[in-house]
Amino acid sequence: MLTLDDALAGASSAIKALFEDADKQGWEAGRVTADYQVRMHCPCPRQHNQWFDVRPETHEYEARHRSLLAQRTCWREGGGE
Ligand SMILES: [Zn+2]
Repeated sequence: MLTLDDALAGASSAIKALFEDADKQGWEAGRVTADYQVRMHCPCPRQHNQWFDVRPETHEYEARHRSLLAQRTCWREGGGE
């Protein structure tokens, strides 16, 4: 089974930075699918979770996903507290 580390090994630097920001905020990786989708779980009491695409087809994905996370979860840009 694919792990997050396996999936991230071939990811772009923008995607690696996205996952680093998630890690700083305490998000935990759940299921990783064979097509590089990762279920990410927010540590807050509301238990936000979102699928992250580790190998998106477009460069716009990373910026769009950041704004989606900011709208739907307690994601903070830059990963700060
Ligand atoms: Zn949350």
